[in-house]
Amino acid sequence: MKNHVVMSGMRPTGRLHLGNMMGALTNWIKLQDDYECFFVVVDWHALTTGYENTQELKENIRQMVIDWVSVGLNPEKCNIFVQSHVKQHAELHLLLSMLTPLSWLERCPTYKEQLKQLENKDINTYGFLGYPVLMATDILIYKADRVPVGKDQQPHIELTREIARRFNYLYEPVFPEPKALYTEFKVLPGIDGRKMSKSYDNYIEISASPETINQKVKMMVTDPARIRKNDPGHPDVCSVFAFYNVFDEKDNVTELRELCEKGQIGCVECKKKLAAIMNDKMEPIRQKRNELEQNPAIIDDILDNGAKRARLVAERTLEEVREAMKI
Ligand code: SF4
Repeated sequence: MKNHVVMSGMRPTGRLHLGNMMGALTNWIKLQDDYECFFVVVDWHALTTGYENTQELKENIRQMVIDWVSVGLNPEKCNIFVQSHVKQHAELHLLLSMLTPLSWLERCPTYKEQLKQLENKDINTYGFLGYPVLMATDILIYKADRVPVGKDQQPHIELTREIARRFNYLYEPVFPEPKALYTEFKVLPGIDGRKMSKSYDNYIEISASPETINQKVKMMVTDPARIRKNDPGHPDVCSVFAFYNVFDEKDNVTELRELCEKGQIGCVECKKKLAAIMNDKMEPIRQKRNELEQNPAIIDDILDNGAKRARLVAERTLEEVREAMKI
């Protein structure tokens, strides 16, 4: 019996990149052993900013879950499902929206920030303003008491705690107040040295072929001060080195640092070696991915079973909620 319940979700953005893999996913894979985990594809959240364009939503969900499972999320150890397959989220979202003051949502920093950032989209909508309530619902419906987050998402956890407190005060203590679970993970830059992101077009997909990996590694920015092969290098400003840090053994990384700093290895050779190491590490993931692509029923089953288990827990919580609210 696992003592704590963890809930975390991702918007269905399609194929994930190595930055996602080394960040959230590696973290989830560790958590599935020690916690009761609910990992959800939050497709309704995707609608809050992308309601106008839904053609690719289903395929994006499938591709993302294929990535999740290929890198090591195990449906025997955790619940993997799609938010819209568990309709109880909608009911609890509605009920919690009744008691959430408007001012709590309007002051949410990510709300203001996204309104500015996504100026080209019409997101002055009821759904977008209320998305932190939907997020709170996703957590509270499983009575999750631990939520893995980045620092920027802390305000959402705080809001979830406030909503839980308000509900518990108005009716009966149904919800635990979730805590943020901060975990260390290795950060991968994009091939241009900035944060790896689809919007910067500087990413390498988990599903990338060996040819694509070779080509993208070739394009990686290195130490700009290094002109000749013998110039002493500064690995800490080099994207290639950041990738070694994540993909290679510690001793090899220490050795490479020395060689680079002494100008005893050229960037071309260094990149070739990195591409080989990456391709080696990614091969089993690619194979698993191919297997899942060729047998779509496997992902269908994982999502069906995950939703069934999630519905049971969600419905149990809702029964308590209805009883507490006397409806
Ligand atoms: Fe980067 Fe390797 Fe070149 Fe050093 S030798 S600057 S680590 S690519």
